[in-house]
Amino acid sequence: MTSIPLVDLAAQHAAVADEVAEGWREVLAGTAFIGGPQVAAFERAYAEFVGVPHCVGTGNGTDAIEIALRALGVGQGDECILPANTFIATAEAVSRAGAKPVLVDCADDDTYLIDNDAVAAAVTPRTAAILPVHLYGQVAPVERLSPLAKRTGAWVVEDAAQAHGARRDGMSAGALGDVAATSFYPGKNLGAYGDAGAVLTRSSAVAARMRMIADHGSPAKYRHDVLGVNSRLDTLQAVVLSAKLRRLAAWNAARRAAAARYDALLSGCAAVRRPRTLDGNEHVWHLYTVRVPDRDRVLKELQAAGIGAGIHYPVPIHLTPAFADLGYAEGAFPVAERSARELLTLPLFAEITEAQQERVAEVLMAAL
Ligand SMILES: *Cc1c(COP(=O)(O)O)cnc(C)c1O
Repeated sequence: MTSIPLVDLAAQHAAVADEVAEGWREVLAGTAFIGGPQVAAFERAYAEFVGVPHCVGTGNGTDAIEIALRALGVGQGDECILPANTFIATAEAVSRAGAKPVLVDCADDDTYLIDNDAVAAAVTPRTAAILPVHLYGQVAPVERLSPLAKRTGAWVVEDAAQAHGARRDGMSAGALGDVAATSFYPGKNLGAYGDAGAVLTRSSAVAARMRMIADHGSPAKYRHDVLGVNSRLDTLQAVVLSAKLRRLAAWNAARRAAAARYDALLSGCAAVRRPRTLDGNEHVWHLYTVRVPDRDRVLKELQAAGIGAGIHYPVPIHLTPAFADLGYAEGAFPVAERSARELLTLPLFAEITEAQQERVAEVLMAAL
């Protein structure tokens, strides 16, 4: 029995291998490994793809969130509201910017997106930013957060790391808040061959500030106006990202077809709760997550059958040891905690075959 990976990066590389090799030859010949013209070209292309005027490449997605917050003046003494069910990076970046993460629960048991009512209840005079996470590939309903943020004087910073190309009511993830941060970690829908990330904004002033912070707080060589970080997008990674960006829409369409196929294959199985797409959303299926009873046993059976299923995420932020000092107790966010116990991510990537998906469904349903 051949195994089925959670994501198949080799299949994806095959599609861009020649273009990347050619682009890398040029970079190696030119030796502009930092800040080469390929970086600016990718930043322009990605800004255009998202539909905002400014994109600044960063070293990774976690730094991107921190840089966005710092550029907006968020730091010591401020609170930032974010969901308890997300990858650690969202909370980590808030803490590293010097602010305090304030967590809220998911809205429901089948979209897993941030609960906007809980956000409204969590706002205080110290709230400086709200960070909706476009989890698993669909856009959080930001249209309700933006008026709230405006009223309370907070910024909306989108965590768009899982939503390259996702849209809500025709608008792209990354174009809905004051600033968006994203990650090009290899397994993301748009992935580099190492660490990479970016920030996006409509504001030229905020873009300039983010670019300065990401480059040692330096607006010009050997001038350092603020304390910055060293977090730039490598030229070699920009080549990979530009090559993949040209194919992203087609890959996302293939993911959507694969998600629809899982929906059909699993629709007859009452024990499987399938993910729901919010009205108005064009989902890009970064992850296809189902809920199942007895999840840990089911996961083991899938893995024993060579199926690379996973869990996103096994521990919500408030129960993570690194965030123990936030002081949240078990039971604080019941929907997120239920998700952590029951969610199961099935293999999904643009190149997955019908036969592979049928096998995943067959093993899953037999386990149940
Ligand atoms: C991947 C990811 C990030 C950032 O990750 P990096 O590994 O630092 O690039 C941030 N938020 C979410 C939700 C993510 O999935």
